[in-house]
Amino acid sequence: MGKHGWTLVQHSGYGYAHHPGFELGVEERAVDNAKDRRAVESVGGVLFASYNAAAAAAASENYPGDYDGLYPSVRGRFAAKSLDGLAVYVPPEDKHVCAWCNDERGPLIRIQSDERSMWVCLRHMPFRIQSDLTK
Ligand SMILES: [Zn+2]
Repeated sequence: MGKHGWTLVQHSGYGYAHHPGFELGVEERAVDNAKDRRAVESVGGVLFASYNAAAAAAASENYPGDYDGLYPSVRGRFAAKSLDGLAVYVPPEDKHVCAWCNDERGPLIRIQSDERSMWVCLRHMPFRIQSDLTK
């Protein structure tokens, strides 16, 4: 199992059992051969070296950020290619928007607290940080 790593695919609860609650869910899947690995790579899927890494990523993709719903809600998309009949998951681009004005043009700065992080544009950057940066 997983000779060529691990990836994330659409949750089998949807892909096999057709439970609508799992439509936006992902699960880890072993990549057993070179053909499957190329399929994952060609659509922009992710490859993990270990089951544990893939399982951890599945958990954070399924319940991203401050989402606290019952069913998974990934923010990426599913590719036309599949492994074992389950669509390969393509994570969202690492694109950020200002938490205040939704502006995605840079520069954006990441503000990290104990609980969470957010991105803000220069106009919405807290004054203290702004003045630190311009020293
Ligand atoms: Zn802003």
